[in-house]
Amino acid sequence: MSIGENIFILILSVIILVHKRSKCESVVRENVLPLDRMIRKAYELIRKGRIEQIGDGVYNVIGEHGTYTVVRNIDGSVACNCPGFMSRKRCSHSLAVLMLNQPVLLKSIKMEIEKAEKRAGKH
Ligand SMILES: [Zn+2]
Repeated sequence: MSIGENIFILILSVIILVHKRSKCESVVRENVLPLDRMIRKAYELIRKGRIEQIGDGVYNVIGEHGTYTVVRNIDGSVACNCPGFMSRKRCSHSLAVLMLNQPVLLKSIKMEIEKAEKRAGKH
């Protein structure tokens, strides 16, 4: 392998890494099947009616630890003012707003959670 090829692979892996981080919505989709806790929490917020639209793309989300404001941008990206979002760049509140605005995604998550709940209720 030449040095040129090595550099190319290095650049490619950096691009993939950056791409993965910036594409918040694709991260959400990748996590649909393993049903991680954040998706479940976000779904609970929707189910319990904890999300209130207070303006154009602005939502009040009543979380477990307080009420936070989630802003949805024109490009579909979301931002929350809770400590979790500040440090990890994602949280159940912003995820809930994302899901609320993607009916197809919300429907598939609803189906997966209901399936999981049925399984859990059997034993
Ligand atoms: Zn949040």
